[in-house]
Amino acid sequence: MSSAFADIAFTPNVKAMQTRMGSRQAYRAAEHEPPEEPALGPYEIAFIAARDSFYQGTVSETGWPYVQHRGGPAGFLKVLDARTLGYADFSGNRQYVSVGNLVGDDRVSLFLMDYPNQTRLKILGRARLIDEDSAPELLARLETPDYRARVERGVIIHIEGFDWNCPKYITPRYAESQVVQRIKEATAALTAQTPAPQLPATEVLGHGELALTISGVRQLTPRIRAYTLRADDWADLPPAKAGAHLAVPVRRPDGAVVIRQYSLAGDPGRRDAYEVAVLRQYEGGGAQAIHDTWQLGTRLRVALPINHFLLHGDSRPAVLIAGGIGITPIKAMAQTLGRRHVAFELHYTARTPIDMAYREQLAGDFPGRCFTYYSRQPGQPRLDVAELLRRAAGDAVIYVCGPRPLIAAVRSAASHLGMAPERVQYESFS
Ligand SMILES: Cc1cc2nc3c(=O)[nH]c(=O)nc-3n(C[C@H](O)[C@H](O)[C@H](O)COP(=O)(O)OP(=O)(O)OC[C@H]3O[C@@H](n4cnc5c(N)ncnc54)[C@H](O)[C@@H]3O)c2cc1C
Repeated sequence: MSSAFADIAFTPNVKAMQTRMGSRQAYRAAEHEPPEEPALGPYEIAFIAARDSFYQGTVSETGWPYVQHRGGPAGFLKVLDARTLGYADFSGNRQYVSVGNLVGDDRVSLFLMDYPNQTRLKILGRARLIDEDSAPELLARLETPDYRARVERGVIIHIEGFDWNCPKYITPRYAESQVVQRIKEATAALTAQTPAPQLPATEVLGHGELALTISGVRQLTPRIRAYTLRADDWADLPPAKAGAHLAVPVRRPDGAVVIRQYSLAGDPGRRDAYEVAVLRQYEGGGAQAIHDTWQLGTRLRVALPINHFLLHGDSRPAVLIAGGIGITPIKAMAQTLGRRHVAFELHYTARTPIDMAYREQLAGDFPGRCFTYYSRQPGQPRLDVAELLRRAAGDAVIYVCGPRPLIAAVRSAASHLGMAPERVQYESFS
């Protein structure tokens, strides 16, 4: 512990308590260190740059402490020099408790957590507020490129002391992006260890009129893999409307060739390639065989796409509801409706964000129209089908694809609301 930190934190009352509890002797040494500048070193600077949140304590003029959680893109708390930190204050709930406190008392206590590595850094300092008028250049240094929130002011913190804490009682927790990264690393390690069983290069499965080659493979979630299929000669493929599926031949591990259906999940506006996304499910099943054997260059002969889940052709609005892997035809529908400028909402539910194929793409392509729900994520919104249908426009057409209970819930809610059955279109994968 630095003497600067101990000088501030170890008040007479704190020292008296340490004496009573028998820890005074151990901490006295820190106070007898020669006074030193509380300057951040390379380790602290790297640690601060990696944080995407911290806690900040301030003191009100009535003496109450107030702790605020601050979050932003990693590195939003900037190290301006070895004794100065700063961050941009984005417009938030407009209570202004922290900044109000800083007007009366400039002392702050920052608490920076690294949960996965069970490490924390405590910083004591004095803060001052700047804005566009008082310090435009300094404010510009606090901005984070590509982060769109509006900057109201900057907070500049002069460091008076800091201290690292022991890892005891910190439960390792991981951000979603860290979980995804770890799964990627584990998957890559597994793939490197286990050579995938391959179809003989000369084998062409199936006898359909379309000759297709796999030209792309992407891992969308830990259990869902997308395959791009092109014509063998890379010519345009037959057009396929949203809701269509391919019936593909699959050789199971027991040698039997079976047919399995997969909805076309690619943009129906594209003629150069089809895309299917396959959820790996049961041991020994066709989906598992696809994951284990389909690779770049695998050749298939399949029948022309079939469509039992067609979109309406007029301008009535649509409500699209997808559960889990049921997103595949629904995604193509959203892309078609978007291109036709027909009003729609997309409601997408899955167990957790990690289970959601195309989640980021859909959120980016349809801002304000794509809503996500999680059934196994405590504290996150869950899909309320009855409420959704109650709010739907009087002429909206409802499309649902997903697990049987979801389809049943939508049909039952529609029936209770007296919707004509033809206004609810659905496709079940099983
Ligand atoms: C029109 C249509 C479109 C489809 N689109 C897609 C898509 O885009 N993506 C996708 O991933 N799938 C899609 N499917 C589902 C797909 O066709 C397969 O049914 C799925 O991949 C499972 O096949 P499988 O051979 O692995 O399982 P199978 O071995 O064929 O199992 C079939 C059924 O048996 C039962 N079953 C088997 N093993 C178990 C077990 N261990 N525990 C519990 N139940 C079990 C399940 O009810 C399962 O549905 C679609 C289906 C249809 C009809």
